[in-house]
Amino acid sequence: MLAGYAVHVENSRGRRFPEPPHPYRNDFQRDRDRVIHARAFRRLEAKTQVFTRRNSDHFRNRLTHTLEVSQVSRTIAGALHLNVDLVEALALVHDIGHPPFGHAGEKALDAAMREQGLYFDHNLHALRIVEDFEQRYAAYRGLNLTFEMREGIIKHSRDYSPAEHPELTEYLLDQRPPLEAQLIDLTDEIAYSTADLDDGYESRLLSLEDIRAGVPVFDRFYRDVQEIYPEAPEKLKFNEALKRILNRFVDGLITNTKRRIGQAGILTLDHVRSHPQRLAGFSPEVEAERKQAKSFLYENLYFSKALAGEKDDAERIVTDLFAFWMQDPTALPQNYQEKAEEDSLPRVICDYIAGMTDNFIFEQYERYCGRV
Ligand code: MG
Repeated sequence: MLAGYAVHVENSRGRRFPEPPHPYRNDFQRDRDRVIHARAFRRLEAKTQVFTRRNSDHFRNRLTHTLEVSQVSRTIAGALHLNVDLVEALALVHDIGHPPFGHAGEKALDAAMREQGLYFDHNLHALRIVEDFEQRYAAYRGLNLTFEMREGIIKHSRDYSPAEHPELTEYLLDQRPPLEAQLIDLTDEIAYSTADLDDGYESRLLSLEDIRAGVPVFDRFYRDVQEIYPEAPEKLKFNEALKRILNRFVDGLITNTKRRIGQAGILTLDHVRSHPQRLAGFSPEVEAERKQAKSFLYENLYFSKALAGEKDDAERIVTDLFAFWMQDPTALPQNYQEKAEEDSLPRVICDYIAGMTDNFIFEQYERYCGRV
C-alpha cells in the first residue's frame, strides 16, 4: 500500500529514451536491475569504505556498505509506505560515483581539479556514470534510468543551487526531492555509523571501553545487554548493543518522519516537493545521539593515527598520478586520449581516476610512479 505522498511508478516522468514496458518488472525495478548490472556497481567491491589495506575480509567495502544501506532503506521505506523499489534502486546507486580510497581519494582528486580551476563532486560524477560512461545498450549511451533515479542521484544528499548549476535545471532544483530520495542520506548515516563502530572494534582500533565512554547511546544499551546476558562473550554483547542502536536509529527516523508528514499535512508528492524543508529526519534526541556516534568515529577512527598512513598514501597516489597524466597524456589509454580532444584534459583524467578501484590505482601507481 503506497501512501499518497509516495512516488507512484505509473506517474514517473520516464526515461530520456522511451522504452516499451517490461512484462514482469516495473520501471523502478528495471532501474534497480540496471544498477546491479553496471560495471561501476561491481567495482564498488574493490573500493575503500574505511579500511584500504584490509588485513581481514570481514570489514566492509563500498559494495557491502551499499547493500547494508539498501537493506536498511527498504525497511524504512516500507514502514512509511513509500516506493520500496525506487528506494532500493537509489540506495544501490548512492555511492557509485565515489573514487578509490574513500574520502581521502575524493579529497585529493578534488584538490587536483581545483588547481585546474575545476572540482570533483561524487554526485555529479555518479550522474555522468549512469548517463554516459556505462555502455550496455546499442540504442543509447548510459543506463537510460528514469527521471526519479537521476533526480535522486543529484538530490539525495545535498541541495545544488540553480544559479551555480544551470546544467541541472531539469532536476527541479528549487523543489525538495521525493521522500524516497530524502531517506537515502539518513540511512547511509545509520548504516555506516553502526557498521564503522563494528569494524573499528573488530579491527581493534576502537576498544569497548573507548566506545562506551565516547558513545553514550552505546553505553546505555550495553548496560541493558549485560543485565540480560551477563555470561555472554564480549563480542556478542557488543553485537547486541549495536543491533539496538541500529533499531533505535531506524525507528527514530520512521517515527519522526511520520510525525513531520502528519504535522505538515502532507498528502501528495507535490506537497513533499513544495514543502520548504526536507521532511525526512530524526527527532532532536536521536539526532544528538547520532551526532555523538559520528564525531566519536571521526576523532577515533577516520582521523586516527592508525589510519593516517593509509590516507597519506591514498592522497599521494591520486595526486601524483593526476600530475603524471597531466604532463604526459600520451600515457593515458587510447579512448581517454580521444576523449581529451573533446573534453578538457583534467576532466578526462579525473573521470579515469574516479572510475578506478583501489587495486587498479595501486597498479597504475607502481607502473608510472614507483613503489607505494
Ligand atoms: Mg554511502
